[in-house]
Amino acid sequence: RQAAFRTDLSVLLEQVGSGKESLSFMKRRIRRLAQQWATAANRLDVKLGQRWRDQKKILVHVGFLTEESGDVFSPKVLKGGPLGEMVQWADILTALHVLGHNLKISMSVKDLQGFLGVPPGRGSCPLTGPLPFDLIYTDYHGLQQMKQHMGLSLKKHKCHIRVIDTFGTEPAYNHEEYATLHGYRTNWGYWNLNPRQYMTMFPHTPDNSFMGFVSEELNETEKRSIQQNKVNNMAVVYGKEASMWKLQQGKDSFLEILHRYMEVHGTVYYETQRPPEVPPFVKNHGLLPQHELQQLLRKAKLFIGFGFPYEGPAPLEAIANGCIFLQPKFQPPHSSLNHEFFRGKPTSREVFSQHPYAEQYIGRPHVMTVDYNNSLEFDSAIKEIMKTKVEPFLPYEYTCEGMLERVHAYVQNQDFCVPEPPFVPTNFSRQGSAAAVRPNGPLFVPIPNSTALGWTSNVTAPTAWPPLSSLRLLVSQEGQSCVDACHSAGFICEPAHFRFINNKESLRGLEVQCEVVDSEINHILPAFSVLRRECGLQREPLLFSCAGHSPKYRRVCPCRDYRRGQVALCRDCL
Ligand code: UDP
Repeated sequence: RQAAFRTDLSVLLEQVGSGKESLSFMKRRIRRLAQQWATAANRLDVKLGQRWRDQKKILVHVGFLTEESGDVFSPKVLKGGPLGEMVQWADILTALHVLGHNLKISMSVKDLQGFLGVPPGRGSCPLTGPLPFDLIYTDYHGLQQMKQHMGLSLKKHKCHIRVIDTFGTEPAYNHEEYATLHGYRTNWGYWNLNPRQYMTMFPHTPDNSFMGFVSEELNETEKRSIQQNKVNNMAVVYGKEASMWKLQQGKDSFLEILHRYMEVHGTVYYETQRPPEVPPFVKNHGLLPQHELQQLLRKAKLFIGFGFPYEGPAPLEAIANGCIFLQPKFQPPHSSLNHEFFRGKPTSREVFSQHPYAEQYIGRPHVMTVDYNNSLEFDSAIKEIMKTKVEPFLPYEYTCEGMLERVHAYVQNQDFCVPEPPFVPTNFSRQGSAAAVRPNGPLFVPIPNSTALGWTSNVTAPTAWPPLSSLRLLVSQEGQSCVDACHSAGFICEPAHFRFINNKESLRGLEVQCEVVDSEINHILPAFSVLRRECGLQREPLLFSCAGHSPKYRRVCPCRDYRRGQVALCRDCL
């Protein structure tokens, strides 16, 4: 069946159910953004023209909200606990509904069993017939529950699953045997999924798919009125839970420096008494409903982070409402190796500031990332912010239309159930000169002249998504990952393209001198050692990894182009 866009959200609101603060929060959000989603649906409908879109049968099982997982989130909704996940699930549900799919929503193990048609009880009676869904969106908790209740049949059906995973799962952690043997075992990984089945909150781990969420958009009138009503010396602090404010104590209190110049507002949850962590000069509004927070952000000039929470939605909302986001630089970077919060998470990604997306994809003048331990640097940042005029800004990928476009592309094109056999292209040829790509880019590797290699072939290209036309072959520097190598050349690493470059042909195209070419199971392959003239190809497709790097090795990297404001999609991806 053909899917038709929906602009009426009443059926969805009913499906979400009620009786919990988390559900009420999501429903309020869905209602508040309804008009915005409808406008976006109409626009995307026009943009896609008469294109056929399959209507898929989709189950959304929100594992972390089930009683069986302990549901630690719902009781904290009104108390300053994490809301980012709920923001994202509300938006995923809305996007799938608006795109016109046949949606079922489960928030308990009982619902899950009912929808899957497995008898109550544990694993003993696995699903015997076909899976009644084309796609299942869940999270790590939900995955665990499905394992318990579907037994071995989970293995057969797992290509249909998508795991919503805020911080991402890198391939080395996902591969059970490899993770166990090489010290990448955590509480979460080891599901042997295709890493692209994990979907993240921000486009930080290209080995995974970027799902995202949306932020409120402003029309021209609103933008103008915001700019007229900005209060130049008003700052709002990022941190709705008192414990987050501990971070500002001791550090030569930068909040006091800020207070010399600006009026400081907070939205910290409290029960009866003002939390002692919040200094007396801060005007605390208490935890605000989302729409009231937006109003506050519309007046404020500055939204300031203390370093926690990491990678949340709030900075995007602040920037969308015309604030400048000021955040601390992390030197050394935070990661699962050195920070409690990331410990045990299936990634070794290094986080160089509180909100790396804001820093890398948005940047100045909307985002300033400074060393908070340097009070001079901090002081001059505040002065600069008060002088700088900025317009409200929202990257396209965080608009409703952007999210619909991306989810549409994933639902129609990502298929992890068909095998992806290796394919050797006949020729990698140079395209353009180094200068055309990035003049003297320090990370762009000369072999022998720095250049990106495009792929040309005289045989028919296999159907692939993203299409092969987007492939650019690159070599990283020693110790550099493909994430960084592609990024510094203006591309993004595309794990789906590894199977086209994991061959001698690509090594030849790059003019790599190999004395031996081995094929091994190691997440840094394909790669080569310059010193030893050893080249290695990957033997386990599940370990194709954009993230992998190793000091003595240069990676062979499958990069691709991307659309401005929509990094998940290549130019020819729609
Ligand atoms: N938020 C809110 N009221 C407040 C402060 C924040 O509703 O007083 C919302 C905010 O709009 C954002 C969400 O909380 O969408 C999550 O924000 P945050 O960036 O703090 O991420 P988290 O750590 O909660 O996932």
